[in-house]
Amino acid sequence: MRNVALIFALILSVSCSKDDTIETVTTAELTPQEIADLSVLREEEKLARDVYLYAYDTYGLAIFNNISKSEQTHMDKVLSLLDAYGLEDSAHPDRGVFNKAELSELYESLTAKAALSLNDALQVGATIEDLDISDINEFLSRTQEPSIVVVYESLNCGSKNHIRSFIRQIESHGDTYTPQFISQDEFETILSQPSGGCGN
Ligand code: ZN
Ligand code: ZN
Repeated sequence: MRNVALIFALILSVSCSKDDTIETVTTAELTPQEIADLSVLREEEKLARDVYLYAYDTYGLAIFNNISKSEQTHMDKVLSLLDAYGLEDSAHPDRGVFNKAELSELYESLTAKAALSLNDALQVGATIEDLDISDINEFLSRTQEPSIVVVYESLNCGSKNHIRSFIRQIESHGDTYTPQFISQDEFETILSQPSGGCGN
């Protein structure tokens, strides 16, 4: 056993010294689950962007335009990860079109609800952020890859800013939102915290 440990230590020290000079991100091995999560998240960020663009076209309310731009940066960050790990872009290039059937159906149902009224569109915004936070929490529990964790935490921070913005708008219209994916506790904690920067 001791010999095996020694050999591992030797291999580690050799590969570490090698990694110092070569790019470490692209050589890392991801699990199928980590790859699947990145693939879903790339299209989930696109779902958010495309639904907000739809809501902005329909109601012309600035919040939808502003947050759609933030979702574009979220999409870009996930694409950078896919690129770094040599994975294909999982997102369809056209607005409102999705490679995953589940996201395509979500887009149809969320835009149909958003079309009903401005209040419904704001509820849709909160719902999307609620889902994003819940999913990213789950994805974070399934990876320890530092470059991925950094992006997930940044996107989660952004989603919390977004849900606070949507809730403010919902409440200013005399309405309320009930969380569907995260717990009531987490929802209240998020609302009690200030919005702020989320890293680069
Ligand atoms: Zn996002
Ligand atoms: Zn968002």
